[in-house]
Amino acid sequence: MATGSASGCTKVSGLIVRQELKRRLLGDAEFLYRQLVTNGGFAETQHHLNQLRQHRFHGNRAGICLGLMAGITGTDDEDKTDRLKTKLRTLILTCLGKFDSWVDYLERGSGCRCANIDPIERKRGRHAVFDMGEKKCGANSRCQIEQFLAKMSDSASSIRKHLATATETAGRPQQLSTILEFLNDATVPGFNTTDRNPCLTVGDLLIALESVAANCDEMYTMNHRDSRPLCAALGQRLRILSHKPETPDEVISSPS
Ligand SMILES: [Zn+2]
Repeated sequence: MATGSASGCTKVSGLIVRQELKRRLLGDAEFLYRQLVTNGGFAETQHHLNQLRQHRFHGNRAGICLGLMAGITGTDDEDKTDRLKTKLRTLILTCLGKFDSWVDYLERGSGCRCANIDPIERKRGRHAVFDMGEKKCGANSRCQIEQFLAKMSDSASSIRKHLATATETAGRPQQLSTILEFLNDATVPGFNTTDRNPCLTVGDLLIALESVAANCDEMYTMNHRDSRPLCAALGQRLRILSHKPETPDEVISSPS
């Protein structure tokens, strides 16, 4: 998640961060809820997730789900299952509202349509069913990302030039390679932005551009490998969030 500080604001965020929060954390919570229903209980689900954790493509999701299960207590498996389901339901249905209250300003310049569709409960009761909305804007939506990229073309160009020259191809994180490829392709006339589902595929780029649109001079991150070159290209400070309450954040004034 990225937030930053802009003049007059302390906590700024944007639509793409909101969308990623929904797609990732809340998507994992919804996945875990379904696992509890299909696996038949807490212990079975935990066992299944521990196996999934070894899997190359599902390891991250399993790790987040196991984190959501940690700390759940109860008199027996059914009680623990019910308590976890209540926790997940509350998270899925209230998290984005809390996020909106937490930020001082939400940058909406990207016009990501799916970011504005909150999860809803389709079916209540013992086995609730949630509709999480779109994961990407798609070609038929009224998404404004193409116009946003055109408006932010100077900053996008700075990022493209910086990534092409300052980061080694061999050691470049995958997300940065994807961003560079997207920006290179975008220089070709006739490039169709919407077909590439930018809010899904190059979220970090759009978050960086939203931070410029909101006049942020600092970016918060937990993933500094991806954020560092973007901040360097845009002349922003980088604040790396500490994982421990007793340790202060690391602030890099001029990331390179
Ligand atoms: Zn979108």
